Amino acid sequence: MNNKIINFIRNEFDTKEFIPLHVPTFRGNEKKYLNSCIDSTYVSSVGSFVDDFELFMSKITKTTKTTAVVNGTSGLQVGLRLVGVKKGDEVITQGLTFVATANAIAYNNASPIFLDVDLDTMGLSPKAVNDFLEEFGELKEDGCYNKKSGKKISACMPMHTFGFPVHLSELITICEKWRIPIVEDAAESLGSEYKGKPTGSFGEVGVFSFNGNKIVTCGGGGAIVTNNIRLGEKAKFLTTTAKQPHSYEYVHNELGYNFRMPNINAALACAQLEQLDSFLENKRKLANKYMNFFKSEGIKFRTENKNSKANYWLMCVELNDKDERNLFLEKTNGANVMTRPIWQLMHRLPMYKDCQRDEQKNALFLEERIVNIPSSVR
Ligand SMILES: *Cc1c(COP(=O)(O)O)cnc(C)c1O
Repeated sequence: MNNKIINFIRNEFDTKEFIPLHVPTFRGNEKKYLNSCIDSTYVSSVGSFVDDFELFMSKITKTTKTTAVVNGTSGLQVGLRLVGVKKGDEVITQGLTFVATANAIAYNNASPIFLDVDLDTMGLSPKAVNDFLEEFGELKEDGCYNKKSGKKISACMPMHTFGFPVHLSELITICEKWRIPIVEDAAESLGSEYKGKPTGSFGEVGVFSFNGNKIVTCGGGGAIVTNNIRLGEKAKFLTTTAKQPHSYEYVHNELGYNFRMPNINAALACAQLEQLDSFLENKRKLANKYMNFFKSEGIKFRTENKNSKANYWLMCVELNDKDERNLFLEKTNGANVMTRPIWQLMHRLPMYKDCQRDEQKNALFLEERIVNIPSSVR
């Protein structure tokens, strides 16, 4: 590895200072909306920015109902409950993901089943799901059961790694056959599309994150989107303490959560969403530059598949092996250019070491080779 890479990145970001992986950009109405939110005194869990944000998200994701929540993780937790995940159930997900995906399953007192990813998408492999269900699946009257554990498999949660959409058509066909509802962890893929449709709109439920490092941020926040109006209303109900509508009395007949996104965060989110198209354009330009540069260096820069559009949230390269990856990480970080390896596989974490999993051949391959590179909007 030579200094050309560091020089290229420094030149692109036009700074001699530390270059982080991803920082937010505030060039729109952020201050204006925050001021008006404060002036209105509606800074907490109700307010017009929350309503605006929910409508805006439904428009962007082409879904009928959005519920704003405190963060993506809580959105995933509720999303699973919405499709019927209960204590003692199992949920299929990918072994190569950010820990929040698995945690959301565990918060429902259910167990994750970790399956392999595809090499091209780095997300849940329909073939791996099919192979697993052919071996262990058993259809009963009320859904799919795992022959090995005897437990119900009550959801499947694919995650669109770094904004690259998984092979949704194939996955949906398999999940329909086995009557397993899909909850999309679209936390990283706001603005990504599969066959012309927004990610997050394919599953029964989709969930986005607006954490500080995501493509659009509101400090902290999440959104649950769906085209199922009954589930959409239930999402709002459960995340607002399951309070029955009444003009003055407190009536709660179910265990709900206080997962509401404060209006002040929603104000920031609205201003950021207005800039989503320009963020996407800006990132695509950087991705093209990276692609051409790394091609000339003989390094594989990861790009989107034919039938999909990535948001290029976190861009990444694939090194030839672990040694090459380590050298890349050392050199770049040593030069104050932040790079970071992809996550450790979930079964390596102590709380998930005993979960059922397949061989995860592709996940193991990617775990040793994928490195994220600076990807902020400039
Ligand atoms: C960011 C992220 C989340 C969680 O979002 P928070 O808003 O930080 O709770 C969940 N899943 C994935 C894959 C993420 O990248």
